[in-house]
Amino acid sequence: MTSAGSTVEDAPATRFARRARAVIPGGVNSGQRSVPGLTDLVITRADGARFWDADGREFVDYHAAFGPPLLGHNDPEVAAAVAEAGRHADLCGVGVTPGEVELAETLAELVPSVEKVLLTSTGSEATFHALRVARAATGRRLVVKFQGCYHGWHDSVSLNVISAADRVGGKDPISTGILPEVLDATLVLPFNDVTAVRRTFAEHGADIAAVIVEPVPHNVGCLLPEQDFLQALRDETTRHGAVLVFDEVITGFRHALGGWQSISGITPDLTTMGKAIANGYPVGAIGGRADLMDLFSTRPGAPAFFAGTYNGHPAVVAAALATLAKLRREPVHEHVFALGDRIRAGLAEVFAELGVPSVVTGYGSVFVSYFMTGGVPRGYDDLLRNDVSMFVGYRRRLIGHGVFELPLNLKRSHVSYAHTEADADRLVEATRAAVKETL
Ligand code: PLP
Repeated sequence: MTSAGSTVEDAPATRFARRARAVIPGGVNSGQRSVPGLTDLVITRADGARFWDADGREFVDYHAAFGPPLLGHNDPEVAAAVAEAGRHADLCGVGVTPGEVELAETLAELVPSVEKVLLTSTGSEATFHALRVARAATGRRLVVKFQGCYHGWHDSVSLNVISAADRVGGKDPISTGILPEVLDATLVLPFNDVTAVRRTFAEHGADIAAVIVEPVPHNVGCLLPEQDFLQALRDETTRHGAVLVFDEVITGFRHALGGWQSISGITPDLTTMGKAIANGYPVGAIGGRADLMDLFSTRPGAPAFFAGTYNGHPAVVAAALATLAKLRREPVHEHVFALGDRIRAGLAEVFAELGVPSVVTGYGSVFVSYFMTGGVPRGYDDLLRNDVSMFVGYRRRLIGHGVFELPLNLKRSHVSYAHTEADADRLVEATRAAVKETL
């Protein structure tokens, strides 16, 4: 009992969490929002680089909702644009709005592969449609993906993301309920393995509709792509008439306005986008070669069905236009890259000083600390050396110091434009304290 006569059970977060579990399976609305040991996390407010829970606890947020709020939470210009949009119109579901046209033009201008573009509400819908249109264009069945890459929740790609050691090399679905023939139609290869790519095309080239890849597999932290690997994907898909899809849902806009394709100089046939386009509002996009995009049924008589009630919602489009305008106008990338470097250097120094075997890696605003030896990982196999209990335990202890990195194995963390050098240094100091507690 507390002095006021209430029990610890009465804390607001606990009460909300209990109500949530009664009516929401697992108490949360998306897989991986429920973290073991953190079941009573009830979020009431997010602003800038922080969020607060129902018990009034404040956290410096490096999880960043898996990546969208590149400008920081509740960016004032994005929020104002959304409010303004709400004063004019909601959804009419017929024709097109000026905002949709402007957004499509902006995406086509920024992203090298994009000649034409369609909006969805999520990244999963974008990757779903990319594979559908690739199959429609080629009349082929097979899709190639890579171990460690995540492309959303739909069946063709719902396999081999974070696999246990004994499941690597076989089919490892992330869900039951997927038809075996769908799993059969997806081939899984190791990332950064040019030989495997060439061998697979030599054996199955005539049946491969598409290769889909996160150019930087951030769903397992960060595996940096080797240039000859991305080049091999481009060469083999071109040679065999398959569609190359870069899934830039994370890398797009966060790493560069033109995505990883503008960094690598390798242009895919189709690009899927999401997350940072609208700084947290629900958006996805699929864009690419006009001849492929014109196969979508938004054009009379075209074969590949495409629809979505909420596609191009005015509030979301307003959020996207405000976000992209700010990304173009202000030194967002300079800021988040500098903070990313500061954090990576600071963390590496602390781990070295405390004698903890670690690899601190990432790119730009994305960072991850693996607890392993053997140098920077090239492929998923290398990540099997990561000490999972240290990875998760360290992050859980960080939370006790008011700093939030998602305490799940291999998850990446993100810096936003709203983070400051003081926030970066706070993470480094919290790390020193958290690691000391584990030693
Ligand atoms: N592609 C990548 C690379 C992702 O990281 C994600 C989500 O994390 C998706 C696709 C799916 O996007 P959404 O969750 O918006 O459906």
